[in-house]
Amino acid sequence: MRIVRPTTLVFYASLAVILGGVVAFVGAQTTPRGGWLGLVPVLIVAWRGLRRPLRRWRMTRRALPASWRDWLTAHVPFYKRLGGEARRRFEQDVQFFVDEQTFEALDGIEVTDALRLGVAAGAALLLHGRPDWELPATRTILFYPDRFDEDYHDTDYASYDGMVHAQGPVILSAAAVEEDWAHPGSGHNVVLHELAHLFDFDQGGAEGTPSLMDPASAEAWRALVRREMRRVRLGTSLLRGYAATNAAEFFAVAVENFFDRPAVLHRRHPHLFNALVAFFNLDPRGG
Ligand SMILES: [Zn+2]
Repeated sequence: MRIVRPTTLVFYASLAVILGGVVAFVGAQTTPRGGWLGLVPVLIVAWRGLRRPLRRWRMTRRALPASWRDWLTAHVPFYKRLGGEARRRFEQDVQFFVDEQTFEALDGIEVTDALRLGVAAGAALLLHGRPDWELPATRTILFYPDRFDEDYHDTDYASYDGMVHAQGPVILSAAAVEEDWAHPGSGHNVVLHELAHLFDFDQGGAEGTPSLMDPASAEAWRALVRREMRRVRLGTSLLRGYAATNAAEFFAVAVENFFDRPAVLHRRHPHLFNALVAFFNLDPRGG
């Protein structure tokens, strides 16, 4: 994540010039000093466009709390391997995410730093190789105490650790978030799974082919997914059976394995691994 993207600056600067120019022109026709009215839209657009960059810039001046660094070191092997500038950038992404997202919890659960960091670390991992990307959607993060069912109830049949739809909050079981980060290498990470779905929803529906994917490689990706889903159905895949539900779930489960146990995924599924390296512009085995 960048403090500000050049394309964003150009967009807001162009908008300010156009709106300011039109209002100034109309104002000047109406009253002798009406041209000054053109400053109003310029100031509004500047405030709108610079609000987040200024907030992020202020955030970069703050040191990462030592307890946050300890949590990341203990739970995120990829972060532990990072050094210098790359580590600073990962920490900055975590700070931006925690600062900008809304975290809520059902009664009885406290939104702890560990829960916030658990989600922020997932976002920082997904975006680390693509500094120009943002998460495709901003959602409230809503924590449930434990597993929930399709009606969002905590029943004996509850089987969901997380859920996200095309709209609405990202719902996560607090217990699963803590459990998954406590056991890296298991291939299960509900945060990576649900955030991966957001890359799909940016085009309206989850199809397992994120629109951020290079269109030239999208067809090859879909063919690869069909082959790999067959392996899941045959029981010869590293990925758990849930990945065969549909292409969207396949992508989410593949992303979990890619970041959580990259060496094993590379060994067992080199083509899938390389396709994800190309998409995320990152080899999670390194730092
Ligand atoms: Zn899913």
